[in-house]
Amino acid sequence: MNLTNMYQEVILDHYKSPRGKGLKEPFQGESHHVNPTCGDEITVRVQLTDDKKKIEKISYESTGCSISQASASIMFEQVDGNSLENFDKTSGEFLAMMQSKGIFEPSEDLLGDGISMIGVAQYPARIKCALLSWMAAKDAIIRARGEK
Ligand code: ZN
Repeated sequence: MNLTNMYQEVILDHYKSPRGKGLKEPFQGESHHVNPTCGDEITVRVQLTDDKKKIEKISYESTGCSISQASASIMFEQVDGNSLENFDKTSGEFLAMMQSKGIFEPSEDLLGDGISMIGVAQYPARIKCALLSWMAAKDAIIRARGEK
């Protein structure tokens, strides 16, 4: 099995068995994002720890294409229970990978299964699908911190 097929398997697995799907209570920030070109939609909720340095719980509900759904599942895996500092690094790495046209050596430490999405970076129309959950999460965090 070559790398492309392996990556497709990873994406398909997240699409078929999404991790952490379903909105949870309580939450301090919520954000709903839509990708009109594809029809993907996601709502993300964030609950921060008391010191506001860590994501105590992130949850989401989403509909749409396999790329957007797999991306949300991967985002959950990489972000849930981790620090905001880690979120900034991870979302920055993911964004850089998506803007790289596929010429990039992503950090597996940061992105986990997210590295499987590198192929998506070659398809401009699908980049928004992959970024949707990360953008919604970023927005929900800003709201949870009371900055919006
Ligand atoms: Zn899509």
